[in-house]
Amino acid sequence: MSPRALETLPVEGARVLLRLDLNTPLSGRRVADATRIDAALPTIRHLQERGARVVICSHLGRPKGQKMRELSLEPVASVLAERLESEVMFAHDTVGDDVEYLTKEVPQGGVLVLENLRFHPGEKANDPDFAGRLARLGDVYVNDAFGALHRSHASVTGVVEHFKQAGVGLLVQRELEALSKLVTSPDRPYVGILGGAKVSDKIDVIESLMHRVDALIIGGAMAYTFLAAKGVEIGDSLVEENKLRLARRLMDRCAERGVKVFLPVDHVVAAAPDAEPVVSDSIGEGLKGFDIGPETVSAYAAVIARASTIFWNGPMGMFEKEPFSGGTRGVAEAVAAASAYTVVGGGDSAAAIHHFELADRISHISTGGGASLQYIEGKELPGLVALARRGA
Ligand code: AMP
Repeated sequence: MSPRALETLPVEGARVLLRLDLNTPLSGRRVADATRIDAALPTIRHLQERGARVVICSHLGRPKGQKMRELSLEPVASVLAERLESEVMFAHDTVGDDVEYLTKEVPQGGVLVLENLRFHPGEKANDPDFAGRLARLGDVYVNDAFGALHRSHASVTGVVEHFKQAGVGLLVQRELEALSKLVTSPDRPYVGILGGAKVSDKIDVIESLMHRVDALIIGGAMAYTFLAAKGVEIGDSLVEENKLRLARRLMDRCAERGVKVFLPVDHVVAAAPDAEPVVSDSIGEGLKGFDIGPETVSAYAAVIARASTIFWNGPMGMFEKEPFSGGTRGVAEAVAAASAYTVVGGGDSAAAIHHFELADRISHISTGGGASLQYIEGKELPGLVALARRGA
């Protein structure tokens, strides 16, 4: 059973508790990047047009169950008001009698933003009492927080059982439609591109992708653990010593399954991130690899050009620093130029695509890192399971 779609829910005149992912980067008390706010607009506008009373809740940062002024959602509510060109009410708490009273003051087509869910420890703990208090703030529940669907938190799972009418918003629908193409019979060859800092973060992804893809391209710091496992000299590059055997085993299993694994053949190396970098096919003692080299980019680009389906998560190097951004840029350009169905998931790789202004040449850029990974691994997302249980 799949969750109900927003369009089928009786939202006219109702208080709709709308769970969004408004976890936006802040610079001081200002919103530094409004991508997630913009991604939420279609559902908010849909609800406004149908005369719902919209009560928005979201988390922001990691306040660890305490009120923190610098992680208030108030600046986010201001940006939302600008984008919607209408007044947006703000509640200085998340739950409670005063907040409940405010939700009843919201006019039809009006919007109220609640304070950061994570100011309450009950949110992350999925505390039934907190979930019940949250549920009193709406008559209908809509989840459009794709990036939070993999978390079993009160506003994502616990709250759902209190609603007769509950479903998913337009962003979640669009994400599921785009990502499901990777899970159900993707066009072949299917190439997975994985980068980022740690093998340990990506083990589950590698294990499940090796059953789905025809080739795996590996970059970023995690490549050095794989190279070290093959006995290649990696100097002082980041390596997870306790993952060497696992890396070896993963590569053996890929070989058994006929999944090709591509590792860097040259690197941009330096003694430290601020030291002078050089391109080299070996990494001497005292040096670290901070990016994949140009020969590697060409080899990866050739594999990418032949693919029919591509999933990419994680940068190819320390791309935030210009001297080490070439690998991520090169792979991003190759993915953008590919005729394949292309999906980019995850904060860093999505940010890189936007930074290189290639977003309009990618089939789908997921707004959820962890959630998109878990979904394409074929795992269930707790938020979707809870909603599906409520049924049609
Ligand atoms: P992740 O959060 O696992 O996707 O890792 C992203 C981070 O890994 C980024 O901040 C990159 O700067 C960093 N990173 C990627 N490649 C390297 C590398 N070769 N050396 C050091 N850091 C890296």
